[in-house]
Amino acid sequence: MSSDTDNVQKTFKTCPVHGTSYVYSITDASGTRYTNGCPLCEAEKRCQAAFGQALIPARFTDQTFETYEVTNDGQKAAVTLCRDFVKRFGDYRKTGHG
Ligand SMILES: [Zn+2]
Repeated sequence: MSSDTDNVQKTFKTCPVHGTSYVYSITDASGTRYTNGCPLCEAEKRCQAAFGQALIPARFTDQTFETYEVTNDGQKAAVTLCRDFVKRFGDYRKTGHG
């Protein structure tokens, strides 16, 4: 029994940054070759692009919840809400909440 995957050739590479092996190219039965980069490198590029699109001023890019100084109740409520959002980001993402 044959399937489409019987006629597919794959080549692998090891990412010099992450040290992980990944499928570099796939050549299908018609001879068309498709190439991929390291999926971890690609994910990092997408993350950096999204971070850039968020238009966060440079002076805030290295800030964390731990460096945020709470000086009043409004700030305390805001940081509590933000921490919860980050903690439950997976749930919010699934439901589309921002
Ligand atoms: Zn990589």
